[in-house]
Amino acid sequence: MKAKIIDGKILAQNLRAEIAEGVARLKEEKGVTPGLAVILVGENPASVSYVTAKEKACVEAGMLSREIRLPADIEEGVLLDKIAELNADDAIHGILVQLPLPKGFDEKKVINSIAPEKDVDGFTPINVGRMLIGEECFLPCTPHGIIKLIEFSGMDIKGKSAVVIGRSNIVGKPVAVLLSRKETNATVTMCHTGTPDIAKFTRQADIVVVAAGRPGTLTGDMIKEGSVVIDVGVNRIPDETKPKGFRLVGDADFDSCAAVASAITPVPGGVGPMTITMLLFNTLESARRVALNN
Ligand code: NAP
Repeated sequence: MKAKIIDGKILAQNLRAEIAEGVARLKEEKGVTPGLAVILVGENPASVSYVTAKEKACVEAGMLSREIRLPADIEEGVLLDKIAELNADDAIHGILVQLPLPKGFDEKKVINSIAPEKDVDGFTPINVGRMLIGEECFLPCTPHGIIKLIEFSGMDIKGKSAVVIGRSNIVGKPVAVLLSRKETNATVTMCHTGTPDIAKFTRQADIVVVAAGRPGTLTGDMIKEGSVVIDVGVNRIPDETKPKGFRLVGDADFDSCAAVASAITPVPGGVGPMTITMLLFNTLESARRVALNN
């Protein structure tokens, strides 16, 4: 293997220690404890584990964590009322609704009801629009974490060519926007299922971010020597040798890509730990903004 592993756990640990210091300072100097409310509707096992991990990270950083669990069969109005209550609650600086919501809920309507100044996931159209035009906003957590990981790999993003595979609203599109901002200054190509020959683009790229949700989307023969590969995918592959009967793999074929790239994120342990970290970062930022304005 040639590539250096970009260890998301280590980077996340370092950043979380800085965030915890920031939380302690804010408490001491301004008497403000950052508070994050996490709303979980229903009992989707993956969502339960994400929510549990977010709460744990929040408490470890010294923040207030408030969990709101609602049954899957509640009326949408009950959820909207809860969000309105949290929007008005001064102890809460960030509100997160765990997605996906159970069938029957209008996700767009629910997300849009979160006050933009508490939208620490960066999913509301107001935040997305502000990001696009370069105004102060909460950057979406996974894309922001991806930029931090590329920087952590040692690659200077400025002037580089980058390919993003995938164009979802939560990963692909915002990653492409963040990479092409003046501060980062990469030249970005977006690929998707309508791209006839993805390898034609990835073979020219210094940075490849793959967020397709399909194992094997990126293989070593598709990338350039010395490139940096960020693998966002999280896919369950049946594996009888594992206690749970499956293992997690990314979208990149790790072995063949690691033989060509200069650095690559593992799955798990790459992008995943950074997503929660950037959520903590945004919650602290939100609390700081409130403290500065009071
Ligand atoms: P998504 O909404 O399903 O979007 C996937 C995108 O990839 C779509 O734009 C799709 O193109 C494109 N795509 C799919 N197969 C492709 C292929 N064979 N070649 C080229 N493009 C292809 O997924 P997502 O929400 O962006 O998530 C992507 C992956 O990242 C998933 O595995 C997800 O679990 C993972 N993820 C991880 C984290 C984390 O924190 N670690 C966070 C978010 C997501 P079209 O638009 O043409 O359909």
